[in-house]
Amino acid sequence: MTEATALPAPIWNILIGQDEVVTKLDRAVHDAELITRGEHGPAMTHAWLFTGPPGSGRSNAATAFAAALVCPENGCGQCQICRNAPTGGHPDVDIVRPQGLTYGVDDARELIKQAGMSPTSSQWHVVVVEDADRLTDQAVNVLLKAIEEPPPHTVWVLCAPSTEDVLPTILSRTRHVVLRTPPDAIVVKALQERYGIDASLAAFAARASQGHIGRARALATDEHARMRRQEVLRIPMQLHDLPACFVHAQNLIETATLDAHSITDSLDVQEAEQLRKAFGADAESKLKGQLKRSLDSSMKQLETTQKRRRTRTVRDQVDRALVDLLGLYRDVLLLQTGADVGLINDEMRPQLSQLAANGTTEDTGRRLLAINYTRKQMESNVTPLMAIEALMVELKDPWVRAAS
Ligand SMILES: [Zn+2]
Repeated sequence: MTEATALPAPIWNILIGQDEVVTKLDRAVHDAELITRGEHGPAMTHAWLFTGPPGSGRSNAATAFAAALVCPENGCGQCQICRNAPTGGHPDVDIVRPQGLTYGVDDARELIKQAGMSPTSSQWHVVVVEDADRLTDQAVNVLLKAIEEPPPHTVWVLCAPSTEDVLPTILSRTRHVVLRTPPDAIVVKALQERYGIDASLAAFAARASQGHIGRARALATDEHARMRRQEVLRIPMQLHDLPACFVHAQNLIETATLDAHSITDSLDVQEAEQLRKAFGADAESKLKGQLKRSLDSSMKQLETTQKRRRTRTVRDQVDRALVDLLGLYRDVLLLQTGADVGLINDEMRPQLSQLAANGTTEDTGRRLLAINYTRKQMESNVTPLMAIEALMVELKDPWVRAAS
């Protein structure tokens, strides 16, 4: 093998600080090609479990793997396929992101039907299930058989935060790929080399994102993202009375909603256009009869999915703010205990010292608990505004719950 071919395929460049994973997946894609030629390819298998904390690149790894399997060049990173497949824009790649609270039996049955279809333009049909931890136990049981004996060209890629989040039955039937939170130094280096970010901004972004690569990139490259973060971090210093709590809760939700829509709106339009095109309808031409009814019903389905995605994206944005607040109170706790560890928000040291002086470690502990509780609540069906209002009141007065 020449040195050039020994390098991992370019598509893996998207992963940062995950050398082991890249080697494993690159080999799997290589062996997948051998298998399609009827040869032996032990590095490839048909059921995978990708785990890693949020932001480690878990779902990027999974979707890049899917793209590499359907790219004729094994993941050139350049072609239309490599560009479209990771977002589900390829007929042989299904990206399933359970949008609701949990993923039930009916969804699982539908998915298995879909997964069973032969690939149309490549050698594999890859089904990526993001957040497989949202599958109900019943849904898992339905899926297990399909995962155990998939049609020869089907590949399952399940993603979850950790192995504890999935049933042992899944674990034993899949090959495991573990992504780790990359150390700050590697994130800094990647930001400098890939995006030309200067050293101090890169260091800030790496620190502030707490190992979350996508977040680090956004903070390093997008001033708007930095501004939003700053707004969130200023909230704890401004919760002087109850009306302030409600105003800040309202602002936080409104901002999250705006930001979420700026992410989803263009996707919505693109998808609707793609669907219309697939039916051979452009802006001018009008469809008739069965074809029109069929397009209308697909359009309705698409709108339902898009609506769920919007809701979920708002919640993701709120969660991001909550993670930033967790980091802030972690810093406050460090200052209160005099621990000699680097602060996530070192540039706010004076304000943080003020917060630290204004309360006890018990206060800070209760605030951290309140934030974590709200994060969990946001995963259930609670109204985001109400959950955040309650949180703001607890951040103002961490003993309010005990008193009531
Ligand atoms: Zn390609």
